[in-house]
Amino acid sequence: MRLFDLPLRVVSLYPDIMNTYSDRGNLLALQYRALQQGIEITLEEISVGDLLPAECDILLIGGGQDEEQKRISKDLKAKASQLQNWAEEDVSILAVCGGFQLFGKWYRDNKGNYLEGTEVFDMTTIAPRTAKFRAVGDIWVTSLIEGIGDVVGFENHAGQSYLGPHVSPFATVKFGNGNNGLDSTEGAVYRNAIGTYLHGSVLPKNPMLLDYLLSNALSHRYNENLEPYFSSPSPFVLQAQSTAMDVTRRKSEKR
Ligand code: GLN
Repeated sequence: MRLFDLPLRVVSLYPDIMNTYSDRGNLLALQYRALQQGIEITLEEISVGDLLPAECDILLIGGGQDEEQKRISKDLKAKASQLQNWAEEDVSILAVCGGFQLFGKWYRDNKGNYLEGTEVFDMTTIAPRTAKFRAVGDIWVTSLIEGIGDVVGFENHAGQSYLGPHVSPFATVKFGNGNNGLDSTEGAVYRNAIGTYLHGSVLPKNPMLLDYLLSNALSHRYNENLEPYFSSPSPFVLQAQSTAMDVTRRKSEKR
C-alpha cells in the first residue's frame, strides 16, 4: 500500500567521514521505516567537494572525532547558507554529536582548533583544554518535543555545548551527561532541525524520534502540516529500547 506518491528526498552528509559509532544506522533505520510505510525515498550521499542538491526533505549527519571534523569543516562552512535555508524551510534535520557540534556556531577542540559551524543552531561548543571532561557512556533523556518521550543512546564527546537564546534543548537528561554535564540539557531544536549527542545509532531503537523526523519530512514534501498514520513500531524495536533503558538505569545506579 503506497501512503504517498512523491518520493522523500533524503540527503546524507559526509557518510564516508562522519560515521562514529555507526551513525549510518540512522539512514538504514529511516530507509526501513519508510519502506514499511509505503514511502519511497531517493538518497543523495554528499561528501567533501560535492554540491548539495537543490531540494531536500530530510537531512542526516553523523558524529566524528576531532580529526574528522577538521576534515569536513571548511567544506561544511561553504554549504552553510543552503543548510540554513533548509532549516528555515522546515526541512527535517538530524545532526548527531560531532555533526551536531558543527551545526552550531563554532566548535573549539581541546587542542584549541577553532572550527566554524553552519550556525543552524544558536549554540557554541568547547572541549576544555584543562579539565579532563569527556562524556562517555549510556545515556537516557526525555525529549521536550511532544510525543517523542524517552530516548536512549550512547554518548562520547569532549565538547561541552551551550545553547543560546534562539534555540531550545531537545531533551532533559535522565541518566548521563548531555550537552555539557552541567545544565541537564541534551541536544538542540530549531524548527524541524534536531541536534543530539546520542549515538547508538539513535534512530533504530527510538521509534518515536524516527517517526517524528519522517513525519516532518512528509509535511515538507507535501508543503502541508501532515499527521500521517504510521504502523506501530515492531516489538523488537520496543524491546531494544526497553533493554537499553534497563542497562542505562543499572549502570547509572552503580556510578
Ligand atoms: N570530536 C567531538 C568531541 O569529542 C565529537 C565526538 C563524536 O562525534 N563522538 O566532542
